[in-house]
Amino acid sequence: MKYFGAHVSASGGVENAPINAAAIGAKAFSFFTKNQRQWTAAPLTDESIAKFKENCEKHNYTPSQILPHDSYLINLGNPDADALDKSRNAFLDELQRCEQLGLDRLNFHPGSTLRKISDDDSLLLIADSINIALGKTSGVIAVIENTAGQGSNLGYKFEQIAQIIDKVEDKTRVGVCIDTCHTYSAGYDISTWQGCDDVFEEFENIIGFKYLKGIHLNDSMKALGSRVDRHDSIGKGTLGADIFKYIATDNRFDDMPICLETPNSELWSDEIAFLYSLSKK
Ligand SMILES: [Zn+2]
Ligand SMILES: [Zn+2]
Repeated sequence: MKYFGAHVSASGGVENAPINAAAIGAKAFSFFTKNQRQWTAAPLTDESIAKFKENCEKHNYTPSQILPHDSYLINLGNPDADALDKSRNAFLDELQRCEQLGLDRLNFHPGSTLRKISDDDSLLLIADSINIALGKTSGVIAVIENTAGQGSNLGYKFEQIAQIIDKVEDKTRVGVCIDTCHTYSAGYDISTWQGCDDVFEEFENIIGFKYLKGIHLNDSMKALGSRVDRHDSIGKGTLGADIFKYIATDNRFDDMPICLETPNSELWSDEIAFLYSLSKK
């Protein structure tokens, strides 16, 4: 099955996310389990958790159709010990919230060197951070998102993600999310069918499709290799149509959440309908 959806609002409580997703015809959704721009949040209430589960059941969303995203503040590769600690605690909290909601995966950006340490050292910190958090939780997969490589963000090369996975002790609980805008901005040319074939062959060889746990489907406002992260609506950016048709028709992308993070939420239902018209399943 193809599970197309979008990153929907959880404003007013996480229990609203499945309702908002169902309203736009989504068969998948992503959301923040807390305010993404704040370090701490009140714990999820029993009532909110119960309603979330009830609403997911009502609208037929299973964990393999749901990809929560962690806070933008977290940097698991932070070279500063205190700041790293803060990020690790916040990441643990995010994983625990997913556990409470009965979800099986959490999407996050790997981290950043802040230009204070080497990429290799920061990647090691990230892997350690993941190991620590996985050791204190169960059942939730840490899903590393590839990045555009803006600033000193790591994870813009498949090799960097493979380097992290290599150091994660429990390989059953680490995964990858591919963001199409980030992929293109990072320099992988997925604007043609042949380019998609080549890039995903490289992905298979360096990381492996067995780790793929979700997709963020976005067009890009910026050029190939710009290293700038600016999402655009489907068909309105620099990517062209091939990548969307590719993902809609290739069965390596079946049975996982494929979520839009495109800037105009009013277009989401049309974008989802368009993607289903390409996939026919
Ligand atoms: Zn992201
Ligand atoms: Zn993304």
